[in-house]
Amino acid sequence: MSRIRLFQKRGVALPHHKVTAKLQTVKMPLSKKLYIPLQQHTGAPCEPVVQKKDEVEKGQLLGKMSAAVCAPIYSPASGKVTGVTTVDLPGKFQVETLVIKTAEEQPEQTFSQPQVIDRESYLKAVEDSGVVGLGGAGFPTAAKLGRKKAGEIKLLLVNGAECEPYIATDDRTMIEEDEYIRAGVLATLDSMQIPRGVIAIEKNKPEAIMRMKQIFRDEPRMEVFVLPAKYPQGGKKILIQVVCGDEVPTSGSSSSLGVMVMNVTSLSVIGKYIETGEPLLTKRLTVAGGALKNPQNVEVAIGTPVEEVIEFCGGFTETPKKIVAGGPMMGHAIADLSMPVTKQINAILCLTAEEIQDSLEEPCIRCGKCIDACPLGLSPVEIVEAYDDRDVDALAALYAESCMNCGVCSFVCPAKRRLSTKTSQARKFYLSEVRKNGTK
Ligand code: SF4
Ligand code: SF4
Repeated sequence: MSRIRLFQKRGVALPHHKVTAKLQTVKMPLSKKLYIPLQQHTGAPCEPVVQKKDEVEKGQLLGKMSAAVCAPIYSPASGKVTGVTTVDLPGKFQVETLVIKTAEEQPEQTFSQPQVIDRESYLKAVEDSGVVGLGGAGFPTAAKLGRKKAGEIKLLLVNGAECEPYIATDDRTMIEEDEYIRAGVLATLDSMQIPRGVIAIEKNKPEAIMRMKQIFRDEPRMEVFVLPAKYPQGGKKILIQVVCGDEVPTSGSSSSLGVMVMNVTSLSVIGKYIETGEPLLTKRLTVAGGALKNPQNVEVAIGTPVEEVIEFCGGFTETPKKIVAGGPMMGHAIADLSMPVTKQINAILCLTAEEIQDSLEEPCIRCGKCIDACPLGLSPVEIVEAYDDRDVDALAALYAESCMNCGVCSFVCPAKRRLSTKTSQARKFYLSEVRKNGTK
């Protein structure tokens, strides 16, 4: 059996809606005020190193690491700290946030390039770049890599799948920042002593595939792997299965297979930092959806309010039924448009009722489609039943902790049951129960 056919039995082919894929990224003018949350990653919040009334320069450290799993946060512009507030971020509670009034004149900033000569200096550079998993996971990259000794990783698997509908930011990064991706990939291979790398890209990104083949044409350690367009191929476990043919055990981790999966845009940030010394200060976003006037890819300063980004894209053509940070399958609904853009957001989607196919839930007809489609081979319908009964043993037996909240089960369910919302809640409930009982 070929590597790809293993996955073809599961997952779904979604309409792509990648209307911005061919559009060059547009740089949005700097906002007058930026709101910089001190936690834009999985892990502990940063400790602020500036206070109200402090003048700050572009690239200056605002929040330092307070724990091993954390990522520093820098000022995207020169200006003045005018206050400290809290904001609600999707998937997080209230996060302490610095307010920066940006200076009218932005002086040209120079950064000092880091010296990367070995694993330690590479990990320090990755940490100082402020990079986190930019595919949406948000896990600090230095913490992830730091768990591995030199020579321990056998394959660097660069994730350029970008399988969620609408989003085209990794695609545009591969086209517009190919040199930085090359620098990031080679530094990672060299410093971590990884013998081989594969960059996996769905076939609906022909220009990105061409650029990556071109940029790595003289690098024998690198291979470009063209994937069929299928959701949720960008999930770590699925990607490993498709590219390597190795199945990650349902309750296991990919590191046991010696594979390090890294998002392609995260590698571009690392490459840019190593080449220029400029840390992560801006985000490339796909701003799209049927309720938006001018869908486009936009580069914005981190901390820019979402409402200003929407305004920059022409505003609404109709009142959106739902505004989502991220993709329609795994993104989070935005309740308050004053919310700032953070490191973890790669899209803002203004979706109409038709696009979200809002309809009433009906009783389960026991068709088994959710089981057939789950990319991890789980039984969503049974996980939901076990969760409704708060049956921890049944959740354990059903591997509820493995659910990656991809939304496929909800998508295929003919009864329109909100399965993935429940399977995600089931996962959280199960993990909190086992932590409470000290069994994990
Ligand atoms: S949300 Fe979870 S249970 Fe549903 S298809 Fe995805 S991995 Fe399977
Ligand atoms: S797909 Fe929906 S209707 Fe079919 S078994 Fe699963 S929950 Fe029931």
